[in-house]
Formats: sequence, C-alpha cells, structure tokens
Amino acid sequence: MADNQNPATPSTPLRNSDQVLTDASLQNVVPEVVIEGPRVGAAYDSADEAALAALVLIEPVSRKEMREYAGWIYFNINTRKYYFTKARRGSADNSDAGQPPAGSVPIGVYHTHGGRPAGKAVATDEQFSETDKFKAIAKAQLAFLATPGGQFLRFTPKLLLPEDEQAANPVGRVSSLLVDQ
Ligand SMILES: [Zn+2]
Repeated sequence: MADNQNPATPSTPLRNSDQVLTDASLQNVVPEVVIEGPRVGAAYDSADEAALAALVLIEPVSRKEMREYAGWIYFNINTRKYYFTKARRGSADNSDAGQPPAGSVPIGVYHTHGGRPAGKAVATDEQFSETDKFKAIAKAQLAFLATPGGQFLRFTPKLLLPEDEQAANPVGRVSSLLVDQ
C-alpha cells in the first residue's frame, strides 16, 4: 500500500487532453482548449495563431543552426481547431514539410529561413521566395514564413483573397502575422 495518498494539488499543469468540458447546449462533450505555449498538438482558433505558434517555437533553432525548418498548418473537422505538425529539419536553403496528417484539412505549409554566418546576411531571406509563392499558388493554400530578421509572415495566394482585393494583388498578398489584418 502506498503511503503517499495525500490528494494535494498536482504539481504539473493540466494539459488540453486532461481537461474536458461539457457543452450542455450541444449535448456533447468537447475538449477545453488551454493554450499554455507553443507546442505540437496544441489547438488554436485560427490558422494564423497556429502558424505563429509553430514559427515562434522553431525560429530560434533555425536561426542558430542556419537551416530551414518546415511543417504543416492543418484543420481538424472534429475539433474545429487548427494545429501544426512538428517542424522537419531541412538544409541551408531548402525544407520539406512532408505530408499533412491523414484525414486533416491542410491549410498550408509553414517554414523558416535559417540564419547566416556573421556578415553574410542575405536580403532575400526576409521575403517569401518566388518558389515559396509558386508552391502556395499551385496548391491554393496559405504559406507562412519566419525570417532570421524576426518577421513572421503569411502569403495568401490571389484566389484565396477576397474578390475585391484580387485586382490589386495579382499574385497574392504578404502580410505580417504580428499585426491585425
Ligand atoms: Zn522560403
């Protein structure tokens, strides 16, 4: 028999999966979402939030290792929430997000541009490359990017923009994830 049965407050914080909330209006049990910090498996209310969490988590690693990292932002139709996959390590100038989780709704790829040796900064590292944009356009998906200069960006292909914004953005639009758009 264990002698340590004191029902004291658990010292570890509850995780999303530990907390269940009954939504009486739906006669259903839905998981309560508590975002404690960026981590794989956390649920977010928007693709932008999931992307920012994913990028904030991996950007310091990418900058230090001078390598790109990439993963997916996806939507789960059961939870109605957005998630990100673990970032996959790439090379200095390339990354591969792999496949989105089976059964998920892929929203777009996130990736980082890695740091450069001191004095070797590359100006175009601060932007989506033409290839980055082309991939997003071809799949009609969003793309998200963290740069070594500390920018967190979203590229929205033209066809995903509101109709009245398409003429002014013939390829698509780049916006910061850090400001309300
Ligand atoms: Zn890129």
